[in-house]
Amino acid sequence: AKEYGRGRVHVYEQGMLEDAAHKRNLERDMDAALRLGQFELHYQPFYSLPDRRLTGFEALIRWRHPASGMIPPMDFIPIAEQNGAIIEIGAWVIDQACRQLSRWPDHVYVSVNVSPVQLRSPELLGQITRAMEQHGVQPHRIEIELTETAVVESSEQIVAVLSGLRALGVRIAMDDFGTGYSSLAYLKRFEFDRIKIDRSFIGVSEEDASAAAVVRAVTQLARDLSIATTAEGVESENQLKSLIAMGCGTAQGYLLSRPLTADKASALLEADGGA
Ligand code: C2E
Ligand code: CA
Ligand code: CA
Ligand code: CA
Repeated sequence: AKEYGRGRVHVYEQGMLEDAAHKRNLERDMDAALRLGQFELHYQPFYSLPDRRLTGFEALIRWRHPASGMIPPMDFIPIAEQNGAIIEIGAWVIDQACRQLSRWPDHVYVSVNVSPVQLRSPELLGQITRAMEQHGVQPHRIEIELTETAVVESSEQIVAVLSGLRALGVRIAMDDFGTGYSSLAYLKRFEFDRIKIDRSFIGVSEEDASAAAVVRAVTQLARDLSIATTAEGVESENQLKSLIAMGCGTAQGYLLSRPLTADKASALLEADGGA
């Protein structure tokens, strides 16, 4: 047992070393990735309910790494948040999303994920304003997605940035709703325009009556507060059917579409009759 235990510890440590080395490599390569054009935005459609019309897209970043292939955001965004690179990467995301919006019809909107580190940065407002002006995009076509962790501090600075965004006319969504611990308090305080119900509630709601009850209650609450709702991670027709019955306004998920390259997203818009 001792031997086994030691072996496990050894393997664990080796794994950690590899992780640390991998992390260092990613961190080193990240410096050049922007300059080398290795980041891409993919776009996952939003569909209105119950009519299933394509209304917009969520921009999701990927890193096309020459040696490691396509790296998902969860593998590098946390590193970029730690070392501050997220500020520059985030500015690129905002600029790229606005550039893409300028090629799409006016009724299409794009939502952009903004990390808590970006929200704390004094540069965010200027970055968004500049991108909108440069690409001639109307502010109401941009939505920013924040998680609760971003607003949990509720510092003066964050309150100021959020009212600045609102003054610009940019919409604000609370992402991953229900995964934090006091979401309800923030809804009113920050006047969110949209709640994105986390996929952990959608995915299980077919079998789990209490998850379904949460979705129903959130949808009802949002309606009472005049806040739009989007269900994330919809993977089955049954889920979609019950979301429609609950009055959820928008759906997103693999059932409707996976995230697409910009070209495929444009083609989908054209096929949809939107372009
Ligand atoms: P998120 O904002 O909650 O984005 C939704 C994630 O769920 C995406 O993963 C999407 O591909 C995935 N997804 C969508 N529909 C389904 C479904 O039906 N089933 C399942 N199982 N998954 C689904 P992705 O693209 O890997 O992004 C992961 C996270 O990385 C995002 O979570 C977001 O927190 C972060 N992220 C992505 N792009 C950016 C960015 O540009 N900036 C920042 N700061 N964070 C980003
Ligand atoms: Ca999101
Ligand atoms: Ca989410
Ligand atoms: Ca998430």
